[in-house]
Amino acid sequence: MESKNKNKSSRGKVFLVGAGPGDLGLVTLRAKECIEQADVIIYDHLANPEMLGWAREDAEMIYAGKKAGEHALGQDKINALILKKAREGRRVIRLKGGDPFVFGRGAEEAEAIVDAGIEFEIVPGITSAIAGPAYAGIPVTHRAQNSHVTFFTGHEDPAKTKSSIDFGALAKLGGTQVMLMGVEQIESITREMTAHGVRPELPVALIRWATTGRQQTLTGTLENIAQRVADVGFEAPAVAVFGEVVSLRENLNWYEERPLSGKRIVVTRTRKQAGELSERLRALGADVLELPTIRIEPPTDLRAFAELVQDAHAYDWIIFTSPNGVTAFFEIFFKLYDDSREIGGARIAAIGPATAQRIKDYRLHVDLQPDEFVAEALAREFKKLGGIENLRILLARAEEARDVLPKQLADLGAIVDEGFAYRTVPETRDPTGACRRLLEDGADLITFTSSSTVENFLALGLPWPQGMQVASIGPITSKTARDHKLKIDVEARRHDIEGLVDAIRNFFVKERAAPGG
Ligand code: SAH
Repeated sequence: MESKNKNKSSRGKVFLVGAGPGDLGLVTLRAKECIEQADVIIYDHLANPEMLGWAREDAEMIYAGKKAGEHALGQDKINALILKKAREGRRVIRLKGGDPFVFGRGAEEAEAIVDAGIEFEIVPGITSAIAGPAYAGIPVTHRAQNSHVTFFTGHEDPAKTKSSIDFGALAKLGGTQVMLMGVEQIESITREMTAHGVRPELPVALIRWATTGRQQTLTGTLENIAQRVADVGFEAPAVAVFGEVVSLRENLNWYEERPLSGKRIVVTRTRKQAGELSERLRALGADVLELPTIRIEPPTDLRAFAELVQDAHAYDWIIFTSPNGVTAFFEIFFKLYDDSREIGGARIAAIGPATAQRIKDYRLHVDLQPDEFVAEALAREFKKLGGIENLRILLARAEEARDVLPKQLADLGAIVDEGFAYRTVPETRDPTGACRRLLEDGADLITFTSSSTVENFLALGLPWPQGMQVASIGPITSKTARDHKLKIDVEARRHDIEGLVDAIRNFFVKERAAPGG
């Protein structure tokens, strides 16, 4: 390869990338591109780790933030690490919460990179100083109330002996003042402000874990906010807003009023399939933790399946029991044939709307789709069709699926061929550190969308987070969970993603309405 002959150190490049305040939707397109192309990602405590899922599978991920009970990597170590990786000729993404140059020591990192003569690029991000207030319903400016905004840090370089915050100037300046990194010092900071003449009734808001599913806002006045922080044990990371604009929140609060606000929900589907469930839950305000427990792989005997697919036209019915089965089937089908009509007169049955939709995506009509999304219902539908005696049926399914359907169909006189279209295997990779985050932060609810998600989650052997409740997509999944001594708190009435999300929403809305909820 040509690249081997080049001087590698000249090819390494560092991207100082703003990861935004937390909400994945608030990441810039450029940041996403950088992550997708990264060789190495060195990320922070405040950068939402879900975005690491955008990276290539072989990208190296290095966590530079605090681990439970351990100290963060020191700044010198981080700088050295960035330089080392870049000198290896790699594309290094230094991913920092918010904007890299707003109180994030990004400036120091950039200087170290320049001093080392390494190429670099800066990708600004949406800072928590703006996004935090916005997601709390606080506009940092309002024509009627202020004409300037100040950002200041409540936590300075510990090497400094005297505070360089000029509280006298801040007091005189007025306007909106946004403080980062100051929750721990809130008592002394509010005392200083008051001592310098700021009125005690000035509205103050603290927004913690802003723009994430864990966002919480505490409001008060300059006089009482420190006491409130102590009373409820309000902790970092938080943005503080001092100013009249805080009172606008009464009307403009939007983010914290969504039905699943404040609820942490675990999604255990495969990384590829998690999207829809995660997005729907996030749209309702949930803090979603994607912890894929399974992944889809080709079947053990792909050749045997391909032979059945090749003969598809010879069947009276083809039954699909999952979207994965449909995809696996047609991937092979269109390798063998370049004309959809090769499927001949075979009629198509689907269990569940997602399966039916996947079939429709291939521009094929679904001839039979039971109302209930379980195999037993399909068998009943066939019975209603006036019997299937001597009909040839191809069942495209997962290798490890239950045996109920083929047996019931055979009992009705059908000639059934089972095609193993794919295999569900435990997901052993955890590039986003989801297991660690579940252990550290716990969760309110875990969702199971199939028996294999239950079994493989339990196989991880993680201690059960305290108070984590269980939501299941339907009776089969619930039964598997109960067999493993889990209690089902929510079961979907419609056994699909939409039904599951509805059930979860109703569950929490009811819980909130209940006394003490
Ligand atoms: N560069 C970052 C700030 C880094 S300093 C930015 O532009 O947002 C770290 C401080 O940022 C934290 O102590 C906290 O005050 C603030 N912060 C960052 N993300 C936050 C979030 N999601 N919610 C609340 N505060 C946040």
